[in-house]
Parts: sequence; structure tokens; C-alpha cells
Amino acid sequence: MSSKDILIVEDEPAIREMIAFSLPAEEFTLREAADAGEAEARLCERLPDLILLDWMLPGTSGMEFARRLRRDEYSRHVPIIMLTARAEEDDRITGLEAGADDYVTKPFSPRELIARIHAVLRRASPDRDSDRIESGGLTLDIAGHRLLYGQRQIDLGPTEFRLLRHFMSHPDRVYSRGQLLDAVWGRGAYVEERTVDVHILRLRKALATVNRDGLVQTVRGAGYRFSAQTD
Ligand code: CA
Repeated sequence: MSSKDILIVEDEPAIREMIAFSLPAEEFTLREAADAGEAEARLCERLPDLILLDWMLPGTSGMEFARRLRRDEYSRHVPIIMLTARAEEDDRITGLEAGADDYVTKPFSPRELIARIHAVLRRASPDRDSDRIESGGLTLDIAGHRLLYGQRQIDLGPTEFRLLRHFMSHPDRVYSRGQLLDAVWGRGAYVEERTVDVHILRLRKALATVNRDGLVQTVRGAGYRFSAQTD
């Protein structure tokens, strides 16, 4: 099992330390942010598998930040666990409405936190959860970083692999070049939209070796989509 990338957004160093100490290093990679601004910077580096988000942050509140993450195409699917000092029912509901997947109430035990993280990761979108995605005769082996067509392995560059992973995780959805840049290259990347076309071309070339290039379709005026259905 590959290690899960967790981003903790919490202004109290003692709690960040407690969490860093509690999460087994062989299972989780922890990145830290003290406020929403720092969290944005960490998100631009790469999307985490899960965000632990403190409710009471200086400046932008945790709830506001959760809303912002959910509105943004780039971050909308990242699971969020709220850390809250408030046990009142209303506050929990507001947090869940803001887009949090779950919450833990301070003070919490490491065991409770880890159990919640496991549960939320299990429920999370299939692209983060499963080790294989199958569609259109292709098997994307995420853990093994391989693409298979039957028994045959298809060579893919790392960017093409990430691109295909994104497509296969969201079949039949049309993505603009800008959305693909955000999702595959990350928001911090300074890359021209034409770069997307170059990698789409390479991906199709690789798929053409097994006659499956038709899976990556151009939608005129809109972008690209992956679809196992032919029209
Ligand atoms: Ca706080």
C-alpha cells in the first residue's frame, strides 16, 4: 500500500505535533499548514489524499476554507475531516454542509483520528481508493504504475499515465485544457494549454498500439473526454 498524503491545516502547533506524532509514518505522509494561505500553497504543490481542517483558524475560518475547496474544480473531491472544539449539533451540521466528509471533536485520541481517516479514505472517490481502474479493455494498475491491455503492457510516460488516470477515474466527462492542467499538472504549474494537446497526442499514440486510441475523444470547442462508448 502506498503512503497517503495528509495535509493538516491547524494554527495550534501543539495539535499539529500531536497529529504528526500519532500518524504512523509508514502509512501517512504529513504536510502542515498554519492557516488557509499556507494551505493553498501546499495544495498547489500537489493534491493531498485527505485534509484535516481545523474549524477555528485565524483569518479565513475552516468552514469558509472548506467551502472554497468544494467550489474549486481542482480540490472539490479531496476528502476533508474537520477538527472542531464544538460538539454542538448545529456546528457539526454546518461543517458537513460546508463540504466536510466527517469531523472529530477536540480533544480526540490518536486512535479515533486514525479510524476516522481510514473510514473517510475508504469512502473517498474510487480514483483515490482503488488500485486498479478498468475501462474500454484497459486496466490501469495504479499501485504498479502500469497500463495493461489484456496481458500486454503499454508503455506510457509519467504525464500520460496521470492524464489517463484522471480520465479513467472520471469517464464520459468532458474536460477543458485548463481543467486538465489543474487536475493533472497541479494548479501551481506554469504550463501552456498547448502542452495538454501534446500529451493527449502521446497518450493516443500509446493507445493506438493496441487500437484503443478512440477512447480519448476530442469534443470540439470544449476539450477532451475518455469514453468506452463509441457514438
Ligand atoms: Ca485553531
